[in-house]
Amino acid sequence: MPETTPKKILIVEDNPQNIRVVRLSLKGKGYILQEAADGREALAIALRESPDLIIMDIQLPHLSGLEVTRELRERPDFEQMPIVAVTAYAMKGDKEKAIDAGFDAYLTKPVSPRELASLIAEMLLRKREASVPL
Ligand code: MN
Repeated sequence: MPETTPKKILIVEDNPQNIRVVRLSLKGKGYILQEAADGREALAIALRESPDLIIMDIQLPHLSGLEVTRELRERPDFEQMPIVAVTAYAMKGDKEKAIDAGFDAYLTKPVSPRELASLIAEMLLRKREASVPL
């Protein structure tokens, strides 16, 4: 069956400049983009909207991206949702921490728009393939 429903992507980012970069890199690809500017809002919107994918900044007010992701992963409906981490500070052990929290991929800022766009497309495709019953 052909995929006709537009994919919903939640962008979680507290820096307006970075939101612009992400928005621009996903523009014109038929996605429905939603935004959250802090961890609490991110959790509320994710639970309400069930996006197809989340792009998550790690350093956020109220709840960190790690905490939001851990919360979501505890719910069966959110076990398989692709969540991509984006962070400004890549320190030793950060990537491991992010994967432990339940992220599927990890990008370091400044994010390359092309790299982000192709990663997102690939992850949405992978999700669809994985949902096909065997
Ligand atoms: Mn931030």
